[in-house]
Amino acid sequence: MTNTKTAIIIGAGPAGLMAAEQLCAAGFSVDVYESMATPGRKFLRAGIGGLNLTHSEPMEKFVPRYGAEAERFAPWLAEFGPEQLRAWADGLGVYTFIGSSGRVFPKYMKAAPLLRAWLRRLGEQGAKLHVRHRWLGWDGEQLRFATPTGEITARAHVTVLALGGGSWPQLGSDGSWVDLLAAQGVDTVPLKPTNCGFNAAWSDHFRDRFAGQPVKSVGLSFGGRRLKGEFVITKTGIEGGSIYALSAALRDAGNAVLELDLKPDWSLEKLTAALDKPQGSRSLANHLERTIGMKGVAAGLLRELSWPLPESPAALAARIKALPLPLLGARPLAEAISTAGGVAFHAVTDGLMLNAKPGVFVAGEMLDWEAPTGGYLLTGCFTTGLVAGRAAATWQKA
Ligand SMILES: Cc1cc2nc3c(=O)[nH]c(=O)nc-3n(C[C@H](O)[C@H](O)[C@H](O)COP(=O)(O)OP(=O)(O)OC[C@H]3O[C@@H](n4cnc5c(N)ncnc54)[C@H](O)[C@@H]3O)c2cc1C
Repeated sequence: MTNTKTAIIIGAGPAGLMAAEQLCAAGFSVDVYESMATPGRKFLRAGIGGLNLTHSEPMEKFVPRYGAEAERFAPWLAEFGPEQLRAWADGLGVYTFIGSSGRVFPKYMKAAPLLRAWLRRLGEQGAKLHVRHRWLGWDGEQLRFATPTGEITARAHVTVLALGGGSWPQLGSDGSWVDLLAAQGVDTVPLKPTNCGFNAAWSDHFRDRFAGQPVKSVGLSFGGRRLKGEFVITKTGIEGGSIYALSAALRDAGNAVLELDLKPDWSLEKLTAALDKPQGSRSLANHLERTIGMKGVAAGLLRELSWPLPESPAALAARIKALPLPLLGARPLAEAISTAGGVAFHAVTDGLMLNAKPGVFVAGEMLDWEAPTGGYLLTGCFTTGLVAGRAAATWQKA
């Protein structure tokens, strides 16, 4: 029997692997357990279409992205924020660059090279990875795992849970830990979708014609926030970057009415003057296209959401600049980019240890925070993984 301290990490996503790295560096013998056949499935999925690791904006803008938890995240991000994350990736031989929007990506855009290099380095540091080990909860002090060859138990001086949220369950994190922690008296806030799409009651005609099409350069207003961007019409409603940015407020409002500005770069006066030109014998569709360049999905939306259209040019211009789109709730959690809700912050210490389970720490998306897309999600997972791992490394049993 050696005196080496032992750590068990459950969940081989970005948060769990970052915690593992801290514990290896502190001299612990580290075992990482993962339910899937391979580690980092969601991280790899995030790399499809460009892994947005973090954001280059100044910290005064970066920290408030964590909304209600911004103050809590501030010291953590000061320790391991965007700059440190980029330096860390550099250390793995994965150089990053700042895209035109200020978002930070690895040079090759994908997650696989980074994950490969990271797993290799963790292996060299002594971490042992056990895939196809699904955590089932505790039996006294022992952690129970279902494996392909039957159930096993394991224990260590410290445990870090990094089991992810509840979105995209096919990638491994399915939120089933909520019941396991509730059974131990750990308070959780119900899991909710965030950075998600919303339902809308499209007519069959509109859905058949426009599902899959992007609505570009559109203004969106809700709850006092206004932004310009684009979104996609889906069979069930709408989704896309601009919708994700408003998703927390839209979700919390229930049946929200999103206001669209289909001509955000035109003033009301300019629009009214253009629409006031004689229509002659042209159809309204033709008139809209010739006078203000409106056609396709934008014209389709106008008809879908405001039929019959107002006759006077001034009223029509006003409608185009403030078109109400009633939403019928968020799409299910399984489809969302990320999860709000999770382990309540009052259930953990400043070092992310469960008050109800001394020696057990939590990190990543399973904690109750949310942030928009833009690299804030991964940064939040890395930083909480680092905090939990470091706190676990210095924890002493009372
Ligand atoms: C399509 C998509 C694109 C995204 N793109 C980006 C992006 O570009 N930038 C960004 O910042 N964020 C992005 N995200 C979000 C980001 O991927 C997540 O926030 C992040 O992966 C969460 O990290 P985590 O370590 O907390 O959890 P996860 O990555 O979910 O890892 C948790 C791990 O725990 C394992 N696990 C769960 N339960 C058990 C159990 N009982 N026993 C054993 N193991 C278990 C899971 O299999 C999983 O491997 C994206 C998400 C999606 C779905």
